[in-house]
Amino acid sequence: MVFHGPGDLRREDLPVPAPAHGELVMRIDAALTCGTDVKTLRRGHPVMIPKVPTVFGHEFAGTVTAVGSGVRVREGDRVVAANSAPCASCPSCLAGRANLCEDLLFVNGAYGEFILLPPRLVARNVVTLTSSLPAERAAFAEPLACALLAIERVRVEAAQTVVVFGHGPLGCLLGMLAASRKARVVMVGKAGWRFDRLKNLGFARWLDATSAGNTVEAIREITGGRGAEVTVDATGRPEVWEQAVDSVARGGSVLFFGGCAPGTTIRLDTRRTHYEELTLLGAFHHTPEMIRRAVETLASGALVPDSLISHRMPLEEVGLALALMEKGEALKVLIRA
Ligand SMILES: [Zn+2]
Ligand SMILES: [Zn+2]
Repeated sequence: MVFHGPGDLRREDLPVPAPAHGELVMRIDAALTCGTDVKTLRRGHPVMIPKVPTVFGHEFAGTVTAVGSGVRVREGDRVVAANSAPCASCPSCLAGRANLCEDLLFVNGAYGEFILLPPRLVARNVVTLTSSLPAERAAFAEPLACALLAIERVRVEAAQTVVVFGHGPLGCLLGMLAASRKARVVMVGKAGWRFDRLKNLGFARWLDATSAGNTVEAIREITGGRGAEVTVDATGRPEVWEQAVDSVARGGSVLFFGGCAPGTTIRLDTRRTHYEELTLLGAFHHTPEMIRRAVETLASGALVPDSLISHRMPLEEVGLALALMEKGEALKVLIRA
């Protein structure tokens, strides 16, 4: 599936690529739709897709079918690849924050039969899978790595109350990770089919943002008036960022996970932020270490993402799958060639 610009995704027959030195080709066994692809299809993406036309899709796992010279994995290996690779030499990389790399190399092409991976990605961000980890779970490595990085940054601990705003796939992954650390997770979302479908993911409580009246008050009420130790925005809406700040406890941490539209701002209570020592954190993307830890988390069964797959569709129907996502009628769609 080739992206030619906003609203223009085409099915094209391309030759199977051949790997040069340091490259590899993999057959895609499972790909997942992502909200980012929906956004990109609507308005393009300056960072992930600097030029068009380009192959499209970025969450995938598969089997190596050909390798160039100097590549350590072998034909037949089952692998997952991240959708980016850091440069390892810029100030951010040297400071151990490869997710902020100033020269991140992005790779797309999950919605296809085969994908060619460039040398930097092959060297840094391809992980071999054990035979017990199916491709459709391994394909969650990329979004799960983003969630892991975020949960590490905010240092979720056992017995804390963690409120997650937004029950899309990433909100759910964040909540599932917090729950696996024995936190009491409260999910805030809108009632409807997703809400019902996700009710048995191990969260302590659900709050219906549409009927809870004042969500902030509702959170204060269920935390004995204190607010939650950790609040997480997974909606990318400035008004929800504000709710996340308003519902955090003294000494608490707010994690801004959802990216808002460019140019937006939020208001901040300076008195609370200072005297109550609030910690406000952004979290973006992932690092090679988090990709590896995500694969381990999936392989060990510590997190089972299966219930986040709401639909399964063939490659030809990617456009339809993304349209379902856009209408809020799908969580993640598993795409198989
Ligand atoms: Zn994604
Ligand atoms: Zn870098």
